[in-house]
Amino acid sequence: MLNETKNIYRDRIDFSKIKGVFPMPDMLAIQRKSYKEYLQMELLPEERKDIGLQAAFKDIFPVSDFKETTQLDFISYAIGNWECKCGRLKGVENSRRKCSGCGTLLPPDAELTEKEICPYCNSMKTIEVPLCDHCGDRVELKLKYSPHECLQKGYTFSVPLRIKVRLISWEKDPVSKAKRLKHIKEQEVYFGDIPLMTEKGTFIFNGIERVVVSQLQRSPGVFFRPGDGKGFFIGKIIPYRGAWVEFEYDGKNFLYVRLDRKKKFLASVFLRALGFGSNEEILSLFYQTYTLVFKKGTLYWKLDENLVGKTVSAEVVHPKTKKVIMPVRKKLTRELFEKLQAAKVDVVALSPKELEGALAVTQIPDVMDSNMNIDEDLWEKLAQYKEPFEVCFP
Ligand SMILES: [Zn+2]
Ligand SMILES: [Zn+2]
Repeated sequence: MLNETKNIYRDRIDFSKIKGVFPMPDMLAIQRKSYKEYLQMELLPEERKDIGLQAAFKDIFPVSDFKETTQLDFISYAIGNWECKCGRLKGVENSRRKCSGCGTLLPPDAELTEKEICPYCNSMKTIEVPLCDHCGDRVELKLKYSPHECLQKGYTFSVPLRIKVRLISWEKDPVSKAKRLKHIKEQEVYFGDIPLMTEKGTFIFNGIERVVVSQLQRSPGVFFRPGDGKGFFIGKIIPYRGAWVEFEYDGKNFLYVRLDRKKKFLASVFLRALGFGSNEEILSLFYQTYTLVFKKGTLYWKLDENLVGKTVSAEVVHPKTKKVIMPVRKKLTRELFEKLQAAKVDVVALSPKELEGALAVTQIPDVMDSNMNIDEDLWEKLAQYKEPFEVCFP
């Protein structure tokens, strides 16, 4: 084969009868190029494209507190320490070739002709990497340990990642809610170490060489699957980014939620965290609620399509003509319901047995709590209560 990368580890014997005419591509170059583009470490912040790490930072920032009086903006990031041997000349910009004619910093991968003509000013000025006045060395990425040392000593092949951020804080007027700038501070902070890729396209973590293998990813969305044979379904929310939310029932029919496959907790706790604070709000999320009101000892239900089929306990007369629309002990049919609606009757009295199995939704101090069974003991207390209240049927 032509141009084949020399294998330094083992002699490769070619038994093929037909000679290769196409050079073997450098497969590792794909990995190296990809990671290089991800880091953009040789580029100055203003030269960076909105990809990779740069895009990730820009996506997350700005971060603000929940009162919105402080905000953290991302300005730029820097990877690794770039300096000469003696450490007097620093900065990634000094590691790059520069035209002494026009002062343009050449792109790190710019190819020049042998004559080194500046592509920006077309002059024959010298294009060179600045050298340190003191040690005569050029600026390079300083590595604490080489990949070989990392492998031998059990270190991670990485360089520090620093980000420059801007903290802005405001003062909020408690009355007018107007924001007034308090102070702005810019600072470079150490963000952590970022692994580097070796020439072989690998990473070294704690002395172990590893490669990144692309993984199948669950498609984001909402999924339902039948629960374990009990006639219910289990839901799962898989977002593009962030925690998975899985719902499941236990043996006692309690609904639990699991975030990111960790410990499960009650779904009601989860709903409260989302802002559905009271039992009332949670019950109305799960069940159809009915509005009831006591008038002179009779319990009236607010007219609702869902009451069709229930038994009526008091006759209903037309508010204007005083004609009986609905006699006692009759089932509320759809036809009757429409008649009542047309006559603008808004409440009907239903047979007390229709309240069997009802659960209180509205919380009435000293009378009933939400999520409480409505039984006969409660009935007396409720009869004294003049306001409408809501119930549901689990
Ligand atoms: Zn130096
Ligand atoms: Zn130039």
